[in-house]
Amino acid sequence: MPETSDAPLLSKVLHGKRALVIGIANEQSIAYGCARVFRQLGADLAITYLNDKARPYVEPLAQALEARIFAPCDFSHSGELEEVFGQIEKRWGRLDIALHSVAYAPREDLRGRLVDSSDEGFKVAMDISCHSFIRMARLAEPLMTEGGTLIAMSYHGANKVVPHYNLMGPVKAALESTVRYLAYELGPKDIRVHAVSPGPLKTRAASGLKDFDVLLADATERSPIGELIDIDDVGLTTAFLATPFARRLTGTTTYVDGGLSIMA
Ligand code: NAD
Repeated sequence: MPETSDAPLLSKVLHGKRALVIGIANEQSIAYGCARVFRQLGADLAITYLNDKARPYVEPLAQALEARIFAPCDFSHSGELEEVFGQIEKRWGRLDIALHSVAYAPREDLRGRLVDSSDEGFKVAMDISCHSFIRMARLAEPLMTEGGTLIAMSYHGANKVVPHYNLMGPVKAALESTVRYLAYELGPKDIRVHAVSPGPLKTRAASGLKDFDVLLADATERSPIGELIDIDDVGLTTAFLATPFARRLTGTTTYVDGGLSIMA
């Protein structure tokens, strides 16, 4: 199993925890960095893949992480998410962690100005990138019998205008607001809800954004840390949020961006 350089520092703090990870497309995926750290910390994993085309890329990664459940999940196919939770209920009877690391907008809408976005494109982007997190929370709630952690991936474009982020800006703003409302509603059940906001990372989803290389160069130049973050950095912070070390944290957006977002 691949390990982060910090592995020796980490104990098995998630031993016995069951984690669902949605959003691995390949080994560059942020979700893969998270799954890797969850596993290193002792969690058992349920991993999904988008469809038959994606399966050959995701399956070896799921095998390396000894995933107990491996199932298809396309949010736009009704019933697939329910089927994943059905398998979790049957096999585990409960769930502790659920990660949503998914974003999608039709290319034409993503590449164009927000003001020109189509009704359908905006709806699809909102459904796949935001409302699916609500559906995931609804299915997770009855299985999080001992409390739990729900995590969604956001981006700074939710709060500030990042050129070329276009309609994903308002979609991520809705996602961060969703995190706050879910945290409020599920808090009494000890289900904590988080947004994690990574700095730019070269992944397949990011390659859909115009001039993404400019964002990467800017992040390297302007962030206080002075270098790009990687998926292990996001994985470590995301895993931290699921541990008892973060037991009184909920509803907030945690940046993993080397400090980039504090800069003017
Ligand atoms: P990625 O392409 O590796 O992951 C995106 C995932 O979304 C893929 O696994 C894909 O299969 C999945 N997906 C797309 N449509 C789906 C659908 N209909 N149903 C289910 N899954 C679907 O890219 P990534 O950069 O790892 O993106 C993961 C998350 O991180 C996204 O929410 C993204 O907005 C966020 N993020 C990325 C960056 C970055 O710079 N890469 C920065 C901040 C936040």
